[in-house]
Amino acid sequence: MIPFSPPRIDDKVIAEVTAALKSGWITTGPRTKKFEKDITAYCGCKTTVAVNSWTMGMQVLLHWWGIGEGDEVIIPAYTYCASANVIVHSRATPVMVDINENDFNLNVEKVRAAITPKTKAIMAVDIGGLPADYIELMDLINEEIIKAKFKASNEKQEKLGRILLLSDSAHSFGAKFYGKRSGSLADISSFSFHAVKNLTTAEGGALCFTLPEDFNHDDIYAEICTKILHGQNKDALAKTQKGNWKYDVIEPGFKCNMTDLQAAIGLVELERYQENLDRRKAIFSQYKEAFSREIWANNPLFETENKTSSYHLYLLRINDSTEEQRDAIIQQIFEQDVSVNVHFQPLPNLTAYKNLGYKMEDYPEAYNSFANEISLPVYYDLTDEQVQTVINAVKESVNKVITNEK
Ligand SMILES: *Cc1c(COP(=O)(O)O)cnc(C)c1O
Repeated sequence: MIPFSPPRIDDKVIAEVTAALKSGWITTGPRTKKFEKDITAYCGCKTTVAVNSWTMGMQVLLHWWGIGEGDEVIIPAYTYCASANVIVHSRATPVMVDINENDFNLNVEKVRAAITPKTKAIMAVDIGGLPADYIELMDLINEEIIKAKFKASNEKQEKLGRILLLSDSAHSFGAKFYGKRSGSLADISSFSFHAVKNLTTAEGGALCFTLPEDFNHDDIYAEICTKILHGQNKDALAKTQKGNWKYDVIEPGFKCNMTDLQAAIGLVELERYQENLDRRKAIFSQYKEAFSREIWANNPLFETENKTSSYHLYLLRINDSTEEQRDAIIQQIFEQDVSVNVHFQPLPNLTAYKNLGYKMEDYPEAYNSFANEISLPVYYDLTDEQVQTVINAVKESVNKVITNEK
């Protein structure tokens, strides 16, 4: 069976995790701090806080920004449930917007139409690894008439004076937009280092801050580190310093710090990340080449004039296929021992969000993009031969299901 997205765990990773285990320090410590600094340098953001998942990082972030009851956060209808769940947990309202027809990402004109005086943030999602339209979104929220609508409800929001631009960068580590890397494209970006993501720490995430000049990013780093550790003003490592046992709790905090065991994996992953991207790009190119010759295939965009993907998910679409036909094709592909997936079921299609009143028919592009979509395996260890097996399995399965029906 060709798996969908196994992690790359080899002797190098095992050696680094073993070194962390033997170092006498296994929770947040020197490896986590180095990992944060290396991410800041790689992404070109101003500061980074490592956390235990995308989800908890974003949850803390929304809390820190003061987003709560009565506020609205705009998100695409086409994303993973985490993007919306965190907004629900902060008691704000996720305002869902439809996506572009060609790239699965948030449609800027539809965002404009969804902005109200309650809009506190826009969370764009880089589906598959292709950055959303951050420049267009930033221009939009800086328009005088949009700024005039904005109502700040605390000091930080007042200082920014406009809607906050967030990036769900769970897929896009290493992606570029006009030469700048993901992590530095929005005011604040959140990465996921979950096991299936491009760069993994088993579970993990990072918040990257690139707020305007008048925000002090050293202060922000300290504030977020306190928030992710019970609100304690000293972390465990600081408390081990001679005579430094005494601490205070300055607010009821969360608990979602990254451990040095996780950071040990992440440091190895980051050091050789370019290899990973190069291999993914080669696989994307092989898929594109193979499917470009098929009239039924709609290949995903992964390189445009100003964007380069992180090659996270190969989102193939089967032209004119219904949802039922797509499901039958997937079944056929699995019969040939190839694992594929669907990214994503749009949020209004999920019980939790149906129950909150969202309706699939309000998001036709999201539905259309989902109904005929199949995500193909992409990872460093996938061989050229296996890529060929995947291509053959997809072609045969499509022919069986679509051609045989005609
Ligand atoms: C994986 C993923 C998340 C959640 O990441 P966790 O680290 O598992 O919390 C959020 N958004 C998107 C788009 C994802 O794919």
